Amino acid sequence: MAPTPNLHFLFIPLMAPGHILPLVDMAKLLARRGVKVTIVTTPLNAIQFRTNIEREIQFGSPIQIELVKFPNVEAGIPLGCENLETLPSMDLRENFLTALGMLQQPIEELLEKLEPFPSCIVHDKNIPCVANVATKFKVPRIIFDGTNCVNLLCNHNLHASKVYDTVSGDSDQFIIPGLPHKIEMKKSQLPMIFRPGPNQKLNALRERVKESEVGVHGIVVNSFEELEEEYFKEYQRVTGHKVWCVGPVSLSNKDEVEKAQRGSKNSNGGEIETQQYLKWLDSCPEGSVIYVCLGSLNRVTPKQLIEIGLGLEATKRPFIWVLRGAYGRDEIEKWLLEERYEERVKGRGILIRGWAPQVLILSHRAIGAFLTHCGWNSTLESICAGVPLVTFPMFADQFYNEKFVVQVAKIGVRVGTEVAVHFGDEDKFDEGVQVNKNQVKEAIENVMGEGEEKDKRRERARKYGDLAKKAIEGGSSYLNMSMLIKDIIHVN
Ligand code: UDP
Repeated sequence: MAPTPNLHFLFIPLMAPGHILPLVDMAKLLARRGVKVTIVTTPLNAIQFRTNIEREIQFGSPIQIELVKFPNVEAGIPLGCENLETLPSMDLRENFLTALGMLQQPIEELLEKLEPFPSCIVHDKNIPCVANVATKFKVPRIIFDGTNCVNLLCNHNLHASKVYDTVSGDSDQFIIPGLPHKIEMKKSQLPMIFRPGPNQKLNALRERVKESEVGVHGIVVNSFEELEEEYFKEYQRVTGHKVWCVGPVSLSNKDEVEKAQRGSKNSNGGEIETQQYLKWLDSCPEGSVIYVCLGSLNRVTPKQLIEIGLGLEATKRPFIWVLRGAYGRDEIEKWLLEERYEERVKGRGILIRGWAPQVLILSHRAIGAFLTHCGWNSTLESICAGVPLVTFPMFADQFYNEKFVVQVAKIGVRVGTEVAVHFGDEDKFDEGVQVNKNQVKEAIENVMGEGEEKDKRRERARKYGDLAKKAIEGGSSYLNMSMLIKDIIHVN
C-alpha cells in the first residue's frame, strides 16, 4: 500500500480491559501498515499498554498515546479509579457512565491540537459522546463494540422483532428470528438493554449507547469472516452498515514478551511469575492442562468459585485457575486457606491471583481446554489457539457467544449456567450458585481426554485456529484492513 502521510486514525477505547486490549491491538495492526494512529486514553489506563506501544514505536510504527484527564472529582468517582475493572462499588456504575459523557470537551480540545487533523475516529460504542465530537468536526466515525457479528445480528433482530415480549416467563425459550441457525434463548439470558432495571438514569444512558449507532460511517469487528461469514453478511444486509472484520487482533502479539506484556500493569509483564508458569506448562503433556479464567470484570460469588474449585480438583487433571482480585476475595481466600486447597492440588494446580498473561498461556501447547465466561475476547483467543472451550457465560453477549461456540462452531461444551447475572446484581442471585462441582467436572471431562467426539471437537478447534491465523496474515482480515484504509482515504 502506498504511503499515506496525511492519514490519521484516532482510537478511543472504553476504559475496561476487554475493550482497551482489542482496540490497542487493532491500532497496532493499523500502524504497522504505515498509517498514523493516536490512542486516546486516561493516565492510569495508559499504564496497561504503554510499554507495548513504546515497543511498536521502536520498531518504526507511527503510533502514539495522547492523554485526557479522567473526571473523577466531577463525576464522584474516587481518585485512582479510571477503569470499570477497578470501580470500587457497583453503585458507581452510573457515575462511571456520567464520567464518560464528560470526556467530550477534553477530546475536542485534543482534536484541535492534533497533526495531521484526524481523518477518522474509531471509538468504543460505549462512549457515545464521541458521536457529538465527530459531528462537530465532520470526521467519519467508526464504532467498535468489543463483540462479534453474531451478537450484533442477534441484538439487531431482537430490537426489530421484540420477540422476547411474546413470551410470558423469564425462562421460556424463544427463537431469535432471522438468524442463519436456529438459536434459542431465554429472556433471562438476554443483555441488560432488553431487560431494563429500575434505575431510569442508567437505562437512559444505555439507550444513548444504542443511539450512537445512528450516523456511523461503519463498524470494525474483532473477528474474521471465515468464522461467522453468514452472520457478517446478514448483519450488513439488514442494517446497511459497512462492516470490517479485521481480527483476531490478539494475534498482533507475536512473541513471548509481547504476549506477556498484554494488559499487564507491570512494565515487564510480571516476568518472574510468567517464567514460572511457562516452566510448569513446559513440564505438562500436550493438551493436558485446563485454563480457567472468567474475565476481567466478573464478580462470581465465593460460593460459586468454591464449586468451580472443587470441580477442578475432582477432575484430577492439571489446571491454571485465575482468581480475579475483587468481589468476595476475602471470603474465597479464607476458604482456600481453611481447606488447604492449594496443598491438596499442589503440583497439578496453579492459582493466579489478579492478572494472568492469558494470550501467552492459551498459546502454550500444554493447554487442552479453556473454562471461560465467554467474553468475546477470551472466546476468540481460545479459537486462535485452537483450544476447545468449556463455557460458563454470565452476562452481556456471553450467552450468545456460548450458543455460537457450542451449537454453531461446535468447539465447546457448556457447564450449564442458565440465567444472566448482570454486572452488579450478583448478591441478588439465589445463594450465589448456578452450577455445582459435578457439573463443572462433567463439562470439563466432556472436553478433555480420549473419545471420537472429543477428537473431532479438537480437530474443529484446530482448524478454526489455522483459519484465524491465515485471516490475519494476508487473508480476509488483512484485506479488510486494506479496504478500511482505502475507504477512509476515499472519504477524506
Ligand atoms: N485478560 C487477561 N488476563 C486476565 C484477565 C483477562 O489477559 O487475567 C484479558 C483477556 O485475554 C481478554 C480480556 O482481558 O483479552 C478480557 O476480555 P473478554 O472479552 O474476554 O472479557 P471481559 O473481561 O471483558 O468480561
